[in-house]
Amino acid sequence: MSASQMVLAPKSLRDTLKALHLSAESLEHFSLDSMPATVRDLACEHLRTCERCCHALRAIEPASFVHIIEGGPIHFRVTRLRCDRWYARYWGAPVDCGRTFRTLAGAEKYLTQSLRQVWRGHKCLPQCGLRLALDGPPEWPHVCDRYSD
Ligand SMILES: [Zn+2]
Ligand SMILES: [Zn+2]
Repeated sequence: MSASQMVLAPKSLRDTLKALHLSAESLEHFSLDSMPATVRDLACEHLRTCERCCHALRAIEPASFVHIIEGGPIHFRVTRLRCDRWYARYWGAPVDCGRTFRTLAGAEKYLTQSLRQVWRGHKCLPQCGLRLALDGPPEWPHVCDRYSD
């Protein structure tokens, strides 16, 4: 059935959208957290059950982890952009900083240095350093509260 032949009842629209794989553009927006909340919810629902999209997402996120600082998580993430640059971001109350880099190494260095400079006295807790598991069931919402090691 071609797209033009599809007639969607409103109640099935959500299910249909949920079943669609995320495009490279959508994955990038998801990783950068730049989707409208309603679209993001649908993407989350899809990612919960779609291994293919989870793998595609992780492929563009070579780094995604947290440090527990002053009682709360600060998230650190590198996203590979479609333009072949790397976006490094760290966020969590009260910060949200990010920059684009030409290389992954540059992006990772930025995150490491930011951690050292912004939170000088930080000593890692056992919960620091989460990376999303590369296999096993995905943990969504995107930043999960379970820790490896
Ligand atoms: Zn999918
Ligand atoms: Zn830490």
